Amino acid sequence: MRDEMISQDGQPVISIENADMFQWDDAADVVVVGYGGAGICAALELVENGASVIAIDRFNGGGATAFSGGVVYAAGTDIQRQNGVEDDPDNMLKYLRLEVGDVVQPETLKRFCDQSAGNLQWLQSHGVVFGTKLYTGKTTYPPEGYFLQYSGNEKVEAYCRDAKPAPRGHRTLGRGFTGNKLYRALRETADRSAIRKKLHTIVQSLVVDGDGRVVGVAALELPAAKHAEHQKYYDKFPPTAPFKESKAETASKAARVMEREHGQLRYIRAKTGVILSTGGFVFNLDMLGQHAPMLSKHYKTMMRLGTLGDDGTAVQLGTALGADTVGMDAMFVGRVQSPPAALLDGILVNQTGDRFANEAVYVGTLGRAIAAQPEGKAWLIMSTKDIRKAMRQVATDGLDAFMRFGAPAMLNLMLGGTKRARDLDVLAEKCGINPNRLRQTVRRYEDMVRNRHDDDFSKLKDHLKSLGNGPYVAMNVSLANRYSFITFHTLGGLALEEATGAVRRADGSTIAGLYAAGRATGSIPSRTYISGLSLADCVFTGRRAAQSCLREAEQDALAPA
Ligand SMILES: Cc1cc2nc3c(=O)[nH]c(=O)nc-3n(C[C@H](O)[C@H](O)[C@H](O)COP(=O)(O)OP(=O)(O)OC[C@H]3O[C@@H](n4cnc5c(N)ncnc54)[C@H](O)[C@@H]3O)c2cc1C
Repeated sequence: MRDEMISQDGQPVISIENADMFQWDDAADVVVVGYGGAGICAALELVENGASVIAIDRFNGGGATAFSGGVVYAAGTDIQRQNGVEDDPDNMLKYLRLEVGDVVQPETLKRFCDQSAGNLQWLQSHGVVFGTKLYTGKTTYPPEGYFLQYSGNEKVEAYCRDAKPAPRGHRTLGRGFTGNKLYRALRETADRSAIRKKLHTIVQSLVVDGDGRVVGVAALELPAAKHAEHQKYYDKFPPTAPFKESKAETASKAARVMEREHGQLRYIRAKTGVILSTGGFVFNLDMLGQHAPMLSKHYKTMMRLGTLGDDGTAVQLGTALGADTVGMDAMFVGRVQSPPAALLDGILVNQTGDRFANEAVYVGTLGRAIAAQPEGKAWLIMSTKDIRKAMRQVATDGLDAFMRFGAPAMLNLMLGGTKRARDLDVLAEKCGINPNRLRQTVRRYEDMVRNRHDDDFSKLKDHLKSLGNGPYVAMNVSLANRYSFITFHTLGGLALEEATGAVRRADGSTIAGLYAAGRATGSIPSRTYISGLSLADCVFTGRRAAQSCLREAEQDALAPA
């Protein structure tokens, strides 16, 4: 029987008659596939409540979580209270309704908000330390020493009408991007528990019994002697490294070859359930081409915010069993406009010369707006006076802000195809924009500056400033310009029964024994991402899937034999 199975090797679904009769290599109550943020939360929740767990990862574990900014979104927390911030889950819900829309059911979003402070505390109780100092300015990521921030569009006029702005981005304590600290704390706790890890093990199939229930997985396990070499492919291309995409693609293919050549096929039984938490699919070019053709076309000049492990495994396996998907076309596209803050004083226009966004919104909102323009082309029009101001800010914002934001902005200014001209007509010609249209756009903007209100996009008054009478500069912030450093990652994934985290089909029925969590799923951030929402969702969905498995195991134990 097992030999017959091996002939199905590589297929996303392997069928067996009876799990009890099959010769497994290993077994646990629950098999967690993908040991990043969502996976480790699920595994901890399970093991601490008495379940046996095998956690499998294609690489060393950690995934995008360990490279992240370590910001977790929550309301009604002690850290907010310490800073005198008045906020609660209802206020968070009012704000998130505007961002999240109907991508999840209203009651799911409410549960997410209600549980957010508790989930933050849960992270703390598992060793994660969040800093406390509040940053009130507008920023993509708080400067060193600050740990509570307005991490989305909370202060933008259109969002303030419904919800009182509050800082909800809780950043893990440390320097720079602190997702590594967050993951390390969880991992140290997990390493002291009974969770059994199988690293450098690549899940390639779900094993399904005669009743259609998922009863295990088939995986390629690399021998220990190959782990370091395999991990090197992964470590060489951290998500934030610029100009890496072509080489990362070569490494991704080489890793696959090694996995096929040296991986030994293992069958691992899941007595209660399999939780898929394999992250997104930004490193799967076929899937990207299908769901985000514009980004797939320009991926070499952009930065994929993910790891080689964001390979779309969960969606491929789940859909092979008939699962539905949610938000597969939704992408986080990030364009950092500030720091330096003076760059917020310019206006963004597309190739037809039309302004298309509030220039001072959250990076993700701005990036998405750029990606939605024809051919993803956009220009930031500024006065040379403001450019000089931006350069002074870059010099004084501090080393960390310089490395992360200032240097890329200056590189773009110098190497990204910036155009300069004394008047708007010449500038428009140099950019290939219709001069009349650009003049009209600027005239309208100047009128709104005089009236102190941006009727078109509600730009913050602090940045609603005149462009002057020239000379002007146009910075190229298009997707095809590698110096505009536009980042992206995927947001959608497997459709879930939202009360349990069970993977569901389009007709609403669930696939027995199969759960999913994190960016492998269609969940809270699957329409819009703001900083902190994904990690918060990993905790929410990871723990939810685990609790559902625990309930299922309990019911099985109670059922008559
Ligand atoms: C630079 C950066 C900064 C970010 N900052 C923030 C932030 O501050 N706040 C926030 O909320 N979000 C942030 N994000 C987004 C967030 O980090 C991710 O969306 C989130 O960590 C995804 O978690 P996950 O558990 O779903 O997947 P991951 O953490 O990526 O884990 C998935 C794991 O599955 C494994 N895997 C894949 N395929 C297989 C397979 N076939 N078999 C076995 N294992 C497999 C992978 O190796 C990986 O370890 C950031 C992302 C980046 C890249």
